[in-house]
Amino acid sequence: MTIRIPFDNSYARLPEGFFARVGPVPVRAPRLIRLNEPLARELGLDPEALSSPEGVAVLAGGEIAEGSEPLAAAYAGHQFGSFVPQLGDGRAVLLGEVLDRNGARRDIQLKGSGKTPFSRGGDGRAALGPVLREYVVSEAMAAMGVPTTRALAAVTTGEHVLREDVLPGAVLTRVAASHIRVGTFQFFAVRRDAEALKRLADHAIARHDPAAADAPNPYVALLRGVAERQARLVARWMSLGFIHGVMNTDNMTISGETIDYGPCAFMDAYHPDTVFSSIDQFGRYAYANQPGIALWNLACLAECLLPLFHEDGDAAVAIAQDVLAGFEPVHSEAHLALFRAKLGLASEEADDRALAEDLLNRMAAAGADFTLFFRRLSDAAGNPVETRSLRDLFSDPTAFDPWADRWLERLGRDPQAAEERRAAMKRANPARIPRNHRVEEAIAAAVERDDFAPFHALVEALQDPFADDPALAAYEAPPRTEERVLQTFCGT
Ligand code: AMP
Ligand code: MG
Repeated sequence: MTIRIPFDNSYARLPEGFFARVGPVPVRAPRLIRLNEPLARELGLDPEALSSPEGVAVLAGGEIAEGSEPLAAAYAGHQFGSFVPQLGDGRAVLLGEVLDRNGARRDIQLKGSGKTPFSRGGDGRAALGPVLREYVVSEAMAAMGVPTTRALAAVTTGEHVLREDVLPGAVLTRVAASHIRVGTFQFFAVRRDAEALKRLADHAIARHDPAAADAPNPYVALLRGVAERQARLVARWMSLGFIHGVMNTDNMTISGETIDYGPCAFMDAYHPDTVFSSIDQFGRYAYANQPGIALWNLACLAECLLPLFHEDGDAAVAIAQDVLAGFEPVHSEAHLALFRAKLGLASEEADDRALAEDLLNRMAAAGADFTLFFRRLSDAAGNPVETRSLRDLFSDPTAFDPWADRWLERLGRDPQAAEERRAAMKRANPARIPRNHRVEEAIAAAVERDDFAPFHALVEALQDPFADDPALAAYEAPPRTEERVLQTFCGT
């Protein structure tokens, strides 16, 4: 069965300095783990063909589909605050772009596909564990409506990669609105390549902010667009207890999609200082720091764009500052709207932010489980008796009572009927998230026993995270003490 992918490549048309033309390196014995059939159809691809041996060869990098112009993109980036002038796709290649069923341009990229000129001493490969983690978490994020790159497929390679241990290798096929990062702009800015920078900005505008082309200064409008998307994106993360873990500037998109799922995790017990990543020693990317870091990254992007804002340096800085000042209000409005929804509030009152903050402070002090609490609050939907029973989720139940009184009183001034409120809250508060212990369990079964059943079951359990499903109760429960996973690893 021949594989037809109707590529329509635009990045490959950019000047040569934007990338290295390099193909994936074939692997020994590719085997399909999972194909995302609905996503394949969304992209206009035939799932049956993709899961045939010829299709799997393409997904593993052994065959190049017609029309593919594989390339490794150049980018730079601040990693934990230190600038690295050259990073780039060291273990990924862009196969090309397709226009999906809705006419949207989507990148198809292989991650773990072998060495490129940007590998910097790395082997260009990915271990199975991180590939499965990215598959599970990115698809769960998509199912929860969070802008994200997607997972089209995962294959094992039949080869081993050497990390701290010898591990099975894998390749993820990733789909993204684009792979343009803040770090892509930094790559040209640090080289003082004004022409390339403008070319990149024009490409990004055409792809992600077409309306900006008509603005008085399109590049200012581009920065504003990126800032607003990131402000809203990070608010979504915060509302779900998601911690990205490596918010380096090379891991922040221009499109506003979540990208590069490394040591990411959802927190169980709520605490604003939560950090999972083993490499984040100082908590730079802790849960509560995420909005501030997003703004820091956007300041890096703004710095790159200054020459396109105004020929006078001071004037350019003033413009950038003005745009960046817009981040906080957009973020905090989005954040408040999401927490109002989580609390079942259809109306708006000035004290709503304080009501949410009061709750979060109490949850942090009492180690209450974030996802379970909000889901059970949705079930209660303002019923006083059921609401009271939530006090058991707090290590000191009396800490919950005053807040419950305050919430019930506030609901008394909200127009929604209980049933309507319950339904709305259940659309804001997922029953199931990719709990870290479940993700680790699925990875361990696959890596240690070649058993992919827990992985498939987990992916399927997260396909409709807002629906009640008693059969999936095991995926809703927080970890028991002995099941808790406190650290996650990049595994790169
Ligand atoms: P990441 O941790 O995915 O954000 O990657 C940071 C940088 O390291 C990027 O330039 C990657 O391409 C590169 N990198 C990560 N893992 C490898 C690897 N196994 N081989 C080569 N380059 C890698
Ligand atoms: Mg990265």
